[in-house]
Amino acid sequence: MTSAARQLRFASVTDVIQRLDPSYPVFCIFPDILKTRARSFVEGFPGTVLYATKCNPHPYVLKALSDAGIHHFDTASISEIAKVTELLPEAHCYFNHPVKGRGALEAAADVYGITDYVVDHPDELDKVISIAGTDITIEVRIATPKGKVVYDLSAKFGAAPEGAVTLLKEASRRGCRTAIAFHVGSQCLDPDAFRVAMEMAMRVAEEAGVKLEYLDVGGGFPAIYKSNVPPLQTYFDTIAAARERLGIEVPLFAEPGRALVAEACSVLTQVHLRKGDDLYINDGIYGCLSEIRDGDLDPPVRALTKDGKVEGELRPFRIFGPTCDSLDVLKLPFYLPENIREGDWVEFGLMGAYSIGMQTGFNGFITDTIVRIDGMHEDFAF
Ligand SMILES: *Cc1c(COP(=O)(O)O)cnc(C)c1O
Repeated sequence: MTSAARQLRFASVTDVIQRLDPSYPVFCIFPDILKTRARSFVEGFPGTVLYATKCNPHPYVLKALSDAGIHHFDTASISEIAKVTELLPEAHCYFNHPVKGRGALEAAADVYGITDYVVDHPDELDKVISIAGTDITIEVRIATPKGKVVYDLSAKFGAAPEGAVTLLKEASRRGCRTAIAFHVGSQCLDPDAFRVAMEMAMRVAEEAGVKLEYLDVGGGFPAIYKSNVPPLQTYFDTIAAARERLGIEVPLFAEPGRALVAEACSVLTQVHLRKGDDLYINDGIYGCLSEIRDGDLDPPVRALTKDGKVEGELRPFRIFGPTCDSLDVLKLPFYLPENIREGDWVEFGLMGAYSIGMQTGFNGFITDTIVRIDGMHEDFAF
């Protein structure tokens, strides 16, 4: 390891503040938390765990997940496939985007040898077969009912049951292997949504009369932004019970993103100005904090000085991001100590998912200092 890389390893967030004294935002990755989380998924889920790469494609994240036993990756672009493959040559990537460009398909098939492709429309099936041939597994993505989720992923993708039956029959008739995939929606708070979707999938499979290679129950497993989130084990138990009752004998896959990585990263920002109860910090909705919009996701925060925590009673603050856009404000009030002032740091926990991967760089603000911190978090416990 080079000395520069060694310097990017820290013992704690306090250590980051003391050594870097950062007036720029810092994205903190905790590989040990990632590994713990990944192991509980691998041990608890009754099937194979794929990581949904888009959720956080940083190499520290991919490497930690791989170290903990995750070797299958849900990818949606050539860039994601390349990133995973270069870092983890043994990894198995699945091209799970229902709409793929021809150039991307050529590279996926010819350069990376991808054998699993999601489709939700007959024209896409034609396209995939014309480029990748038929020695592949076609995963038909079905739309699932909208449930208790923060983001509905069936509003954009997924075939209705009749269409899915036709796609499965056609893929099988042309000589492809077949599978079914769905996504119940991100941050799904109702474990039963998985049972409902699995029943739907098996009805479709039965009607199509094709043999499935696997049933992919997708992502949507929640992270604990609030206290009313059911534990992961409840999801695993619901899925295992549904498999039993429906007599599903094919392997199950899951594609968690958020639930695997949310807890394992935080964003360390600095207060650059305080105006009354308004704080202006150096990351915001065009950066790593884009998901903190309307109160559905409520990450823990703490305020730090160089020597410890900011003192004082907690009171609500409005937090503005760094860009000149007036939309760049966190909708949620955050409770922080009343003595907080310019130069103090505000750390947002539960920021592993949909954060560094979604930055825009708008106005020249980007969080590009990424550090790894060994061990568990010194304060946030989930
Ligand atoms: C985004 C996505 C996932 C991950 O979803 P989470 O809600 O983060 O678990 C899994 N599969 C597909 C196809 C996705 O698009």
